[in-house]
Amino acid sequence: MKELVGNCSQCKKPVYCLEGFLNGVHINGTLLCFSCSEERDQNPGSLASADRRNKSDNIS
Ligand SMILES: [Zn+2]
Repeated sequence: MKELVGNCSQCKKPVYCLEGFLNGVHINGTLLCFSCSEERDQNPGSLASADRRNKSDNIS
């Protein structure tokens, strides 16, 4: 069973739900396909801020 969930908010490709498995991701109410969500993950700015958070945890 293939059900159209919506369109990717970045590339406008249709995102489907296949057998209960979403063919993309939902972030803060925004629908993204897998390729656009991977581009977000590879953003160096978000990685740097996560690393900084870990260091402050070690200090305290
Ligand atoms: Zn996309």
